[in-house]
Amino acid sequence: MGSSTPLVKAVKGMNDILPAEIARWHAVEGAFARAMQRQGYREVRTPYVEPTPLFVRAIGEATDVVEKEMYSFTRHDEPLTLRPEGTAGAIRAYVEHGVHNQEPVTRWYYLGPMFRAERPQRGRYRQFYQLGAECIGDPGPGCDAEMIDALAGFLREIGVAAPDVFINSIGSGDTRARYKDALVAALTPMKDELSADSQRRLATNPLRILDSKHPADAEAVARAPTILDFLSDADRAHWDELRRDLDALGTPYTVDPKLVRGLDYYTRTLFEIKGAYDKLGAGSTLLGGGRYDGMVKDLGGPEVPAIGFAAGLERLLIASDVEAPKSVVDVFVAPVGDGTQAAGLVLARDVRRAGLRCEVDTRKASMKAQLRRANALGARVCLILGDREVNQGVVEMKELAGHVQEAVARADVVARVAAVVASPVPEASPKEGGA
Ligand code: AMP
Repeated sequence: MGSSTPLVKAVKGMNDILPAEIARWHAVEGAFARAMQRQGYREVRTPYVEPTPLFVRAIGEATDVVEKEMYSFTRHDEPLTLRPEGTAGAIRAYVEHGVHNQEPVTRWYYLGPMFRAERPQRGRYRQFYQLGAECIGDPGPGCDAEMIDALAGFLREIGVAAPDVFINSIGSGDTRARYKDALVAALTPMKDELSADSQRRLATNPLRILDSKHPADAEAVARAPTILDFLSDADRAHWDELRRDLDALGTPYTVDPKLVRGLDYYTRTLFEIKGAYDKLGAGSTLLGGGRYDGMVKDLGGPEVPAIGFAAGLERLLIASDVEAPKSVVDVFVAPVGDGTQAAGLVLARDVRRAGLRCEVDTRKASMKAQLRRANALGARVCLILGDREVNQGVVEMKELAGHVQEAVARADVVARVAAVVASPVPEASPKEGGA
């Protein structure tokens, strides 16, 4: 019986977000935009596609993202990549538009899809959405503390219970170079016990061995020297002040000297916020960020420090208990009978002009089907227009929750319905209803 036409399905790891889910997305995106705007951040939108060398230069050649996760292709002889993260594009735009000449400090936030060819699992997708921000032009550490504190606040605001903040400093150029040497020296005698990946990283990117999840690496990592012992005086002063500022703000945090994160560009402050372990398990890193004081210069701009973060929107949605409003429209206009369609269209338009959300039946469905639709859409009020009502210049106004109905003059109905929609929904309890 079935058709033989093969189904075309979405790409593995890339998801449709249907309207039933989108209200929660809007709620979290809106809370994020408001939280950032409260701190003077403005939205920036950069292309989803960038020249491949941008990511190679900004993120680093020996990172997982650049080595194996980018969606890259060539078009018109130009190597292009679907952006795997937002910072490189934002900084490219900052440099390209000479923004450093326009203001001493730039605060930008963004939200949108990112693309990484990872193995899909819960909380890990190939197209996923990030909310992120960059503060460019301020060396911190006050700015770092403010960002971390605001993010913990934002997570609580969207109903992530008790988010855990982890911080570390990986110092700047010289500190990292000295630490890398010490780390390689400490791990080389244990090389044979390390996982294959870590053995390779010993030569390419030894810091990444610290956040290896492979059990074979656990002992070596536990015995490895900690970067905090290698901080230069300037790095240490920055690190100490960051912690003093967080203490003053009352933001609890845990120092995690093994926190290095996946991207090469970081300097000094690094942070991650985890939470909702019961729902996210191993993928409980809700957001991560850090300082990247060298990137503006590396991308051809002046020496300007910066810090940023990105949060995975899908993970925030799994972790958050925000509830989406169930209602799709405020008002449903139900024309019943032969000659009522035009009157229904006009009424619906007038209701919308008053700023209300309104659907009108244009299928000429039965009264029963229309009421079912009004309830399914979560309408507060159904406006019924039969031939008799149209002739008498009235509309039957039915409050769906309270089961109250009355005839209202057509001239008054828009104001009346607006007042009902603005009033609190009556309690479901029959005793309370009515009045
Ligand atoms: P990163 O850009 O790797 O520092 O990641 C920042 C945040 O983005 C992570 O903490 C996750 O919440 C989210 N994220 C990263 N990769 C993925 C992915 N493949 N799928 C879903 N979320 C992701």
